Amino acid sequence: MKCRVCREPAVIEVRRHNAGFCQGCFLTHCRNQVERVIKEHSMIAPGDRVLVAVSGGKDSLALWDILLRLGYSTDGLYIGLGIEGYSEGSGGYAKRFAAEKGAELLDVDLPRDYGYDVKTGAAADHRVPCSACGLSKRHIFDRAALDGGYDVVATGHNLDDEAAVLLGNVLHWDLAYMARQRPVLPGGDGFPRKVKPLVRLGERETAAYCVLSGIDYQVEECPMSVGNRQLGYKDALNAIEERSPGTKSAFYSGFLERGAELVAHADVDGRESLHPCSKCGAPTTSRETCAFCRLVERATSEQRRRITVGTP
Ligand code: SF4
Ligand code: ZN
Repeated sequence: MKCRVCREPAVIEVRRHNAGFCQGCFLTHCRNQVERVIKEHSMIAPGDRVLVAVSGGKDSLALWDILLRLGYSTDGLYIGLGIEGYSEGSGGYAKRFAAEKGAELLDVDLPRDYGYDVKTGAAADHRVPCSACGLSKRHIFDRAALDGGYDVVATGHNLDDEAAVLLGNVLHWDLAYMARQRPVLPGGDGFPRKVKPLVRLGERETAAYCVLSGIDYQVEECPMSVGNRQLGYKDALNAIEERSPGTKSAFYSGFLERGAELVAHADVDGRESLHPCSKCGAPTTSRETCAFCRLVERATSEQRRRITVGTP
């Protein structure tokens, strides 16, 4: 197979484009896709300071690399989740990447800075781990962005992630979630703007981007993801994609072009009823403390109890 652009031998085939690319043209293709998404959705304005959510995995490191190469002003933020056998490694990949690029990486550690880990937080708050993790990450990113004067938070959600979430939302006819499933969420009222510049790249492409540009990333998946519903939706979409290449992309981009408008009326973000959290000042619909402060309180007392009774 030859490269679609330069006709040299291809090193990767992207079936949904029915095309092969050589190393150089593939990397350029990925960067062009990201640049187009950023422009089309007005994600980042000239002069904006961008905070990149960096996990040490392929998506976030590919995103940070591309944004740096496109000339955006970016710093990274890594959150250590205290997940045994996983978090120790992921932080190392994030830190090595930042050091190689001479880029600034902010570092928050849940056990060190907040006194709990994801597993304890989930048990104490009667949530599944991914829910406690998501709540913690959202709060910490919002806080860091506002405290650090960043205009926008960029996350590494890729096409596979977004198509899987969309499928879940459609299967449950969750119109409110669908209405908020956009690649840009506007800022204001104590929230930074949030953008997903990788929505045109599949996870196979972000992995290939890292390998072909020499970026070392954490290959192991988070052990807490086992049984995660989204993985089932990804498998289902992959099975369809295998038979009909391009379906996943058509599903997601078709939603943005035609479906999103139909469900826009269901977007009730509740911002009109926000109050500052009595403890941390973050915007919340609760009259007292926000969900994150309540999670921290329960999780830290659970952590203390475990230490006292000697539970691992
Ligand atoms: Fe957090 Fe769940 Fe992702 Fe693990 S799989 S990093 S627990 S959201
Ligand atoms: Zn709070």
